[in-house]
Amino acid sequence: FPVERIRNFSIIAHIDHGKSTLADRLLEITGAITKTQKNKQVLDKLQVERERGITVKAQTASLFYEYENQTYLLNLIDTPGHVDFSYEVSRSISACQGVLLIVDANQGIQAQTVANFYLAFEAQLTIIPVINKIDLKNADPERVENQIEKVFDIPKEECIRISAKLGTNVDQVLQEVVKRLPPPTFNREDPFKALVFDSNFDQYRGVIANVALFGGCLSKGDRIVSAHLGKSYEVNELGLLKPEELPMERLYAGQVGYVIAGMKEVKEAQIGDTLYHQKHPVEPLPGFKPAKAMVFAGMYPMDQSDYSTLRSAVEKLTLNDSSVTVQRDSSLALGAGWRLGFLGLLHMEVFNQRLEQEYNASVIVTAPTVPYKAILSSPRLIKNRRGIQKNMVYIDDHRVMMKYLFPLNEIVVDFYDHLKSMSSGYASFDYEDAGYQAADVIRMDILLNGKPVEELTTIVHRDRAYSAGKAMCERLQDAIPRQMFEIAVQAAIGSKVIARETIKAFRKNVLAKCYGGDITRKMKLLKKQAEGKKKMRYIGTVQVPKDAFINVLKRK
Ligand code: GDP
Ligand code: MG
Repeated sequence: FPVERIRNFSIIAHIDHGKSTLADRLLEITGAITKTQKNKQVLDKLQVERERGITVKAQTASLFYEYENQTYLLNLIDTPGHVDFSYEVSRSISACQGVLLIVDANQGIQAQTVANFYLAFEAQLTIIPVINKIDLKNADPERVENQIEKVFDIPKEECIRISAKLGTNVDQVLQEVVKRLPPPTFNREDPFKALVFDSNFDQYRGVIANVALFGGCLSKGDRIVSAHLGKSYEVNELGLLKPEELPMERLYAGQVGYVIAGMKEVKEAQIGDTLYHQKHPVEPLPGFKPAKAMVFAGMYPMDQSDYSTLRSAVEKLTLNDSSVTVQRDSSLALGAGWRLGFLGLLHMEVFNQRLEQEYNASVIVTAPTVPYKAILSSPRLIKNRRGIQKNMVYIDDHRVMMKYLFPLNEIVVDFYDHLKSMSSGYASFDYEDAGYQAADVIRMDILLNGKPVEELTTIVHRDRAYSAGKAMCERLQDAIPRQMFEIAVQAAIGSKVIARETIKAFRKNVLAKCYGGDITRKMKLLKKQAEGKKKMRYIGTVQVPKDAFINVLKRK
């Protein structure tokens, strides 16, 4: 296929602005799929994606489009819409020459519209602004066009007004893709060089890498090397994605497709990595960095006998998502499990949901934490402010864009929910990593009758220590049943106790009600007590039921 008639593009948008709906329409118009209700959001393959209406894994489709009696090959590279996956967005974008920037005609520019715009802008791509949902009663495309001109400096005349739902002006979008985007400039005569912009794991065929060819061509049987690990492979199968796989003999520079080459783990085809011919090594494409985990949580089987089942489920899922980091971990309270690292909170939720839906696994997930670098015995730590305002811009009379520097720990749990409810749902939020900052955090221990409970030790901000300690003591007070003696539940910083609750002694024993009479009743009670004991852990002489740990540690 001649390179001049290839266009590689992505659709980028704030969540729910209609990216998947537009992708479906484009696939229908070009005949890649037939128009039936069942085909709703075909690019969102995973069950979680359909349920949550988000795109987690980037998907790709090659479309053939007739324009002025010529056939064009339009490669649509779908990108995940959520902040957690912005690393995948930027990789997908680097395989394109242009993007469709979708903005909802009612909501206007939102946080991820801005974040995604800059990813495309920094990659120097042609940006076609598309105003979607013009069929809505409250649509105000005029206002949105003014926002686009003001915030992105794109003349409003360049905006295309569409309704992806009804198909209005969708054909025009494809025409503009052909007209406004440049073809890829890659050369077939150069040595083969390809960017891996996504990878999936198939149980039977191994890793399926989605690639964009930046130079040369690739044929079945070629020996290729992945630059990151330096391992070599033989190409077993390759082809186009329509979006189903369509095997071909060869792929050429400027094309986008899939490659299967006997890779056993997604780690071998990391997003952002470069592939080249073993015979012709090339300089790897710039900017490769492995995805970085920002949020960590412990994950344990509900029942320890499910450990090996859960392990194989976790292994399978991480085969498909190399951005999850896995470390074996064990907790005295929760048994053997893992400490998993995720790109963000949504990523973590999607992972848990997939474990439950696809592997039927029942798990305990501990409250998420963020990474700290500790400098032990540093003389004085710099006081950490919670939010530092960096800038503020009025988008129009109704909207303002504010940038703050926050400790990740402050936004990781419920910040987004609070922001949404405080703004009656109008505010949107996006974040990026600003690196490590010195913070005044300290270690807080929990004591039961003076004995530390190792599994409940946490890192807290000094200003929050008192309230965090108090909350923890209260939760434990509720979770631990009364015993034959009084129990002091304390939170301590070093040797200083900062909070305390007391669990009063419980005088009656389990047989007190049985007046020595009914023997079966007595046996029953003793058995029940024994079962209860199995699930107990002793901290000194205090019996702590396993549930208590689960309730205190679990995400709420
Ligand atoms: P994405 O998150 O950007 O992929 O957004 P979706 O394509 O999943 O669309 C989000 C919601 O907006 C869905 O309920 C769509 O049916 C709806 N939607 C998408 N395009 C239009 C449109 O042109 N008009 C109207 N009224 N609704 C739309
Ligand atoms: Mg979508």
